[in-house]
Amino acid sequence: MGLIVQKYGGTSVGSTERIAQVAERIAGYLAKGHQVAAVVSAMSGETNRLVAMGQELGGEYPSRREMDVLMASGEQVTIALLSTALLRRGISAKSFLADQIAFRTDAAHGRARIEHIDTQKLQTELANGVVPVVAGFQGVNEHGEITTLGRGGSDTSAVALAAALEADECEICTDVEGVYTTDPRIVEGARRLQQITFEEMLELASLGSKVLHPRSVEFAGRYRVPVRVMSTFAEGPGTLITLENDNMEQAIVSGIAHSTEDAKITVSGVPDIPGIASKILGPVGGKNIEVDMIVQNTGVDGMTDFTFTVKRQDFQPTLSLLDDVAKDIGAREVTGDNTIAKVSIVGVGMRSHAGVATKVFDRLASENINIQMISTSEIKISVVIAERYVELAVRALHDVFELDAQPD
Ligand code: ADP
Ligand code: ASP
Ligand code: MG
Repeated sequence: MGLIVQKYGGTSVGSTERIAQVAERIAGYLAKGHQVAAVVSAMSGETNRLVAMGQELGGEYPSRREMDVLMASGEQVTIALLSTALLRRGISAKSFLADQIAFRTDAAHGRARIEHIDTQKLQTELANGVVPVVAGFQGVNEHGEITTLGRGGSDTSAVALAAALEADECEICTDVEGVYTTDPRIVEGARRLQQITFEEMLELASLGSKVLHPRSVEFAGRYRVPVRVMSTFAEGPGTLITLENDNMEQAIVSGIAHSTEDAKITVSGVPDIPGIASKILGPVGGKNIEVDMIVQNTGVDGMTDFTFTVKRQDFQPTLSLLDDVAKDIGAREVTGDNTIAKVSIVGVGMRSHAGVATKVFDRLASENINIQMISTSEIKISVVIAERYVELAVRALHDVFELDAQPD
């Protein structure tokens, strides 16, 4: 018994039938004596639909303020529908938009960060036996403007709310039965993990595993919120995100993530002199464009090449920006490729095992997949390859590290 914050994702609230099932699931928890606060996403496909309409009228770069007002409307529908379904079952429930519970964020439209949540109202509702149904993904800044937390952000709303309410657990209820060794939609033999460390989950989420929004994992680690990823409609324990624990069997590789949201840019024929990286990347950062992997080749005859990746949505703006920069620094040319994929293997056990990278390179070579860029850290290895090989690469690496064969 205790307070549980439950987040229901888009598929879980994708139709009125499913919303009724979610209400039934919540009723089951209440019957066992738990208190529940729910956080919901928009119906599946709804946020995409809203974005497409905004872009149709606003062009590729519509007003960010208006896009947030537009996108946040998806969650307004589902909180009202879920509360209605709960009320129909005789359960006291009340929907809340972000500004009704002072869910405060900074002012960065489209990728706002949570600053503070006023829990007093929710505590009072909970104490009165009410199930608060809170709109995920949205916030409000200090001037009362609507903000959103970035795509997939309702996971973060839920974990932040669980932290603020000091809940006993935060359940992320979704359309798969937990966190798997890789996306179960790509590898049929992917295995559900019983538990995974915050550290590994943060890497997987940041490297493209959509099952959790990266910032939700950051919150969970920082505020020590036990988070469990589980299915909304199938019974089962799901996957617990835990602090590292000595008894935990440390698999060398715990999971594989992939992302097809990046693009690669190369500035060739750059003079190999001090300050060149800052001359290239300075203007990019100045436009708030996030740079991920960076590689500078060893100089030959005083010239070098410089390659880095950005989010695919920033591909064209970065290329245009670099046209001027290239002239300024005397670079030969700027080229780009927005059909790349990043595949990453993650595991805390990698720290103490040599030869993991070799295994990755050998297997990709035997599949005839060319590696374009490599980046490593203590617990991950990422490679950039052509997008068309992404599924093949994920399957091959899942196989070579025998991820489906290990016991839970
Ligand atoms: P929701 O709408 O409930 O937030 P998402 O679509 O955002 O659901 O996230 C769940 C999806 O994440 C799954 O359907 C699955 O395809 C994908 N996914 C990617 N990597 C993994 C992984 N390692 N384990 C489980 N699911 C994953
Ligand atoms: N509805 C938002 C999105 O589609 C937030 C979420 O689902 O987490 O990105
Ligand atoms: Mg999601």
